[in-house]
Amino acid sequence: MATLAEKLIVAPGSKFKLGKLDADRTFGVQKAAAARKLERNIERLSELQYRLYAEARRAVLVVLQGIDAAGKDGTIRHVMTGLNPQGVRVTSFKVPEGEERRHDYLWRIHRACPEWGSIGIFNRSHYEDVLVVRVHNLAPKSVWSKRYRQINEFERSLSECGVTILKFLLYISKEEQAKRFEERLDDPSKNWKFSAADSRERDYWDAYLDAYDEMLEKCSTQYAPWYVIPANRKWFRNLAVSDVIAGVLERMKLEFPKPATDLSAVKIT
Ligand code: AMP
Ligand code: MG
Repeated sequence: MATLAEKLIVAPGSKFKLGKLDADRTFGVQKAAAARKLERNIERLSELQYRLYAEARRAVLVVLQGIDAAGKDGTIRHVMTGLNPQGVRVTSFKVPEGEERRHDYLWRIHRACPEWGSIGIFNRSHYEDVLVVRVHNLAPKSVWSKRYRQINEFERSLSECGVTILKFLLYISKEEQAKRFEERLDDPSKNWKFSAADSRERDYWDAYLDAYDEMLEKCSTQYAPWYVIPANRKWFRNLAVSDVIAGVLERMKLEFPKPATDLSAVKIT
């Protein structure tokens, strides 16, 4: 039977129709069971991260993409909670400014890549350069259309150098987004998250879907696969993301380094 991760992965080169996805889908997982499993996954992640850190020869990069209010921040908060802050770095990519604007679009991305032994988390990423840039014509098609290949080549070289890459697209329905925006307006503790620009982005919903479809078709690769997560239900989203990351880390066969000297001969005096 296929694992949850296998059900969520986008097969390289396959056509994807995000608009047809049921964002409420939970693949038969029950909420109570998911809560227990999430807890277990958080423990697994903590143990695996410790090994990654000790080994210090490879790194892991988790990319999170999704429309506004899809739950990128919430996923980081809930799934990464057991990790040792010494070995994780979260980078949120905003509209490029200053030095970033004076370089190629991958410059700021490469700079933020995780060092050996650590986990890097990207809240938005180089994929903005084929998403928002495409939807709003921030660059001509002749420029952004080459980026799918450039991104694949970039990710291939990262992966060959020892960076394990996992990419998650969190997908919520347009109705769910409206609900979450209303919460941001109603709840004073969430007001800060709301910007008028976000609600204008709703007019571009279908253009974003097309951009996501092409991104998934062109950039889900063996070495850096995309996982599409139905994210209307936060508990399922958290479970799914934690399950995929823990499974991938387990398959890395992380080992504690062998001591450089024969420890049996050491006497603590
Ligand atoms: P937030 O994630 O809510 O803090 O918003 C960050 C904003 O920065 C979003 O509207 C993104 O679309 C935008 N952004 C991120 N990267 C880029 C980019 N490369 N070009 C243009 N806008 C970007
Ligand atoms: Mg936002």
